[in-house]
Amino acid sequence: MIYRALLIKYAEIGIKGQNRYVFEDALCDKVRERLKAVADGFTCVREQGRIFVSCPEEYDFDEAIAAIRTIFGVWAICPAAVIEDASWDNLTQKVGDFIEAVYPERKFSFKVEARRADKKYPIQSPEICSNMGGYLLERFPELTVDVHDPDVKVQVEIRTNAYVFTQTIPGPGGMPVGANGRAMLLLSGGIDSPVAGYMIAKRGVAIDATYFHAPPYTSEQAKQKVVDLAKLISVYTGPIRLHVVNFTDVQLAIIDKCPRDELTIIMRRYMMRIAEHFAKECKSLGLVTGESIGQVASQTMQSLAATNAVCSLPVYRPLIAFDKQDIVDIALRINTYETSIEPYEDCCTIFVAKHPVTKPIIGVIERSEKKLEGTIEALVEEAIRTVEVINIG
Ligand code: ATP
Ligand code: MG
Repeated sequence: MIYRALLIKYAEIGIKGQNRYVFEDALCDKVRERLKAVADGFTCVREQGRIFVSCPEEYDFDEAIAAIRTIFGVWAICPAAVIEDASWDNLTQKVGDFIEAVYPERKFSFKVEARRADKKYPIQSPEICSNMGGYLLERFPELTVDVHDPDVKVQVEIRTNAYVFTQTIPGPGGMPVGANGRAMLLLSGGIDSPVAGYMIAKRGVAIDATYFHAPPYTSEQAKQKVVDLAKLISVYTGPIRLHVVNFTDVQLAIIDKCPRDELTIIMRRYMMRIAEHFAKECKSLGLVTGESIGQVASQTMQSLAATNAVCSLPVYRPLIAFDKQDIVDIALRINTYETSIEPYEDCCTIFVAKHPVTKPIIGVIERSEKKLEGTIEALVEEAIRTVEVINIG
């Protein structure tokens, strides 16, 4: 394998002041952990605003890159060849060998960029660039130089070893998970909420999740689907404590006592109340949902206001202004879509009214909920008491 090093660049951590080193170390640990699953023999060190990965002789390159591309905070990955003896003749020879191996058809314009982290190196960066350019032109006469808009940037970095690379593979961006606290995701089996979890985690927020099921009206497969989705997003978000709440009795009480057209809104308000309980238990700083304005009756601005009204923690809605197709595109990219469209029932949809309110008035909803007083408290308590917590990832 020609690429015996991976230079990993990260971006926004730079602004985090004091905590910077903590996050850089966390990122380095994450790279180490992910690559361990690919092969033995990778070593990772943090150095001057980069992570340097030294790679074993044999490994699956695509798998290694894919693994690193799941790590939020990674801005770019540059696969590089390592040149242990950076003396000039050897350096030029090895950079030439690299170009020869990576580009069998050498019909491109190029420019050399040099970075001399080892200031003791006898040749300064501008000279490295021009002399290396001259060497490459001589060895490969079919190449041309274009310093303004080259097809290929031949980048040479001189540290203890020298590195040569030409490729910059974009990472997922964002910030390292955990850098910005923790939140509780309301995770259903749908398309939207797994994407919402992915997106909040991309901003450095660690997540736990709460799923409401209603056995026997919802099946074991529906629950398994949510477990599967949590596993899929945990590749990006890291470990998730998935709280599976039996919501049947609360739901039946609402159906029994409240107007049918308000059912969804009242149910959503109880979901938020219960999720908030677990959020506080998990030291979460907010709730996260997959809602987007106007997508369905329960997501009009009036409905969102009615759902919000019962929460004391902030509710984050990463998809609030997204069109469905945009959400589907992300779901496809992060590999949750196929699982999300499995046809198992959701507890929200089984008792849904034909004509749900689309402009609920909070006072009216509160009055309807009054009819639950005396019954609902014990049912909510029981739902909380009997929660099943599944550790994912
Ligand atoms: P999704 O695709 O995420 O299920 P949706 O378009 O089906 O969303 P709703 O069913 O109105 O919309 O749900 C809105 C949000 O409420 C979801 O994104 C999710 O965060 C939360 N939610 C809905 N049902 C459940 C459930 N059974 N358990 C946990 N959270 C839920
Ligand atoms: Mg849903």
